[in-house]
Amino acid sequence: MALSIEALLKQAAQQLGDAGSDSPKIDAAVLLCHVLDKPRSHLLTWPEKAPEPAQQAAFEALLQRRLAGEPVAYLVGEREFWSLPLKVAPHTLIPRPDTERLVELALEKIPAGPGAVLDLGTGTGAIALAIASERPDLAVTGIDLRPEAAQLAGENSERLKITNTRFLSGSWYSPLVADEQFAVIVSNPPYIDAADPHLAQGDVRFEPKSALVADDHGLADIRHISEQGRQFLLPGGWLLMEHGYEQGKAVRDILQRLGYEQISTAQDYAGLDRVTLGCWQG
Ligand code: GLN
Repeated sequence: MALSIEALLKQAAQQLGDAGSDSPKIDAAVLLCHVLDKPRSHLLTWPEKAPEPAQQAAFEALLQRRLAGEPVAYLVGEREFWSLPLKVAPHTLIPRPDTERLVELALEKIPAGPGAVLDLGTGTGAIALAIASERPDLAVTGIDLRPEAAQLAGENSERLKITNTRFLSGSWYSPLVADEQFAVIVSNPPYIDAADPHLAQGDVRFEPKSALVADDHGLADIRHISEQGRQFLLPGGWLLMEHGYEQGKAVRDILQRLGYEQISTAQDYAGLDRVTLGCWQG
């Protein structure tokens, strides 16, 4: 039976709500817009229109995958970050709104005028692209362990016509030449403990473990980035890292022991500790 847009949305939202989605109406609308290849306003303007049978079938298929837990961002292949529409893929973390805090803080610390900024574990390129879009005078480098992620970040940069970026693949700082130096280094590294029950819930179940989980209670990569960062920061340069809401003190301690100064922790939009930063005087 050919159902109207309104009826399809209502039915899908009901099913998603029953299955425990936090945002059943939005999920249903985003999936239907994707299938119809129309903006959200189309759904409100034409509620009585019945999509083609093939579109209804495609919507039903996506709905079933969403009901099985797959993140909406992977189903539609896109997520907005810092108002930039980014392609996402299952080998990248889905950009989170709270990571925009890291971008805001980094923009405050980046000195005026041309300079170099590094984003470690760039994934979709979200942080690097947000900074590069705000500051066309900078040269922004993004590095990801996975070549597919570095490739995707490069594609996002091209699609958005952001030209002051380069994306490299390798472990943390390894693709850099030894004497490269940056005014600011940012990272949203993996920081979740392997035993954290959060990993068995919601969207994170479908995200790459390599982007989420780190050894040593989730602190191993943060420690590595902080240690090596001293070699790659200009004197007076800043390191800013996202971390778990209970890791603020541990991350400040790591930076302190390594000789960073002016160390502080900033909160995310929910008021939870989320980003710790320190200055390297050289
Ligand atoms: N903030 C994310 C979460 O809790 C994790 C991101 C990360 O590990 N870098 O789901």
